[in-house]
Amino acid sequence: MSSQSPFAGVVALDGPSGTGKSTVARRLAARLSARYLDTGAMYRAATVAVLHADVDLDDQVAIAATVEAAQIEISTDPDNTWVTLDGVAVDGEIRTADTTAAVSAVSAVPAVRAQLVAAQRELIDSGGIVVEGRDIGSVVWPTARPKVYLTASARARAERRAGEVGADVDSVAADIARRDGLDSSRAASPLTQAADAIELDTTELDIDDVVAKLLELAQD
Ligand code: C5P
Repeated sequence: MSSQSPFAGVVALDGPSGTGKSTVARRLAARLSARYLDTGAMYRAATVAVLHADVDLDDQVAIAATVEAAQIEISTDPDNTWVTLDGVAVDGEIRTADTTAAVSAVSAVPAVRAQLVAAQRELIDSGGIVVEGRDIGSVVWPTARPKVYLTASARARAERRAGEVGADVDSVAADIARRDGLDSSRAASPLTQAADAIELDTTELDIDDVVAKLLELAQD
């Protein structure tokens, strides 16, 4: 594809947190003049709904009912990202420590995944989009090309995340390990590398290198 034609396909960027996924995905979308979808923000908004409703995180039935009643809208503009819950902006609240601590429990509920995956597929359907998450290449959009799985060493991931949220590296490393464990071991579409995904280790790469590499893959 020439760099002049608008990108019409679907790029899947999966991997655990701290791999630079969000920054890379947003920049790649802007470079391709494509849309951008942060599926993690959708699971986080669903989690805010659950926390507002004061639902027990062990009660999967109540979690599913709460998320089903929630209206989650999300921007696909890489230069103007926002997410709303029942019409109210929750961009700050989706990133709080409380939301982060609860999101793996909410996203493990099969009915929540079914609902959000259906919403994601609707948004992706018209193409021209870079989608980041945990299960995009494996479940949400298996025909995505390129389909990339970003990794990085545990230490590099913790250091990046600590820099973003202003916390100490050891506590962030513990939180990442806990979430990775939950996300990888859940029964419903766990975090996993699709067999045909290209693995890109970002430990020694800076963001610009990763974006350049993905741009090449997307324009192949
Ligand atoms: O990407 P981010 O760290 O914001 O994702 C937050 C959480 O949302 C993840 O830890 C995971 O539990 C869940 N998630 C998911 N499937 C996706 C995206 C995110 O289960 N496609």
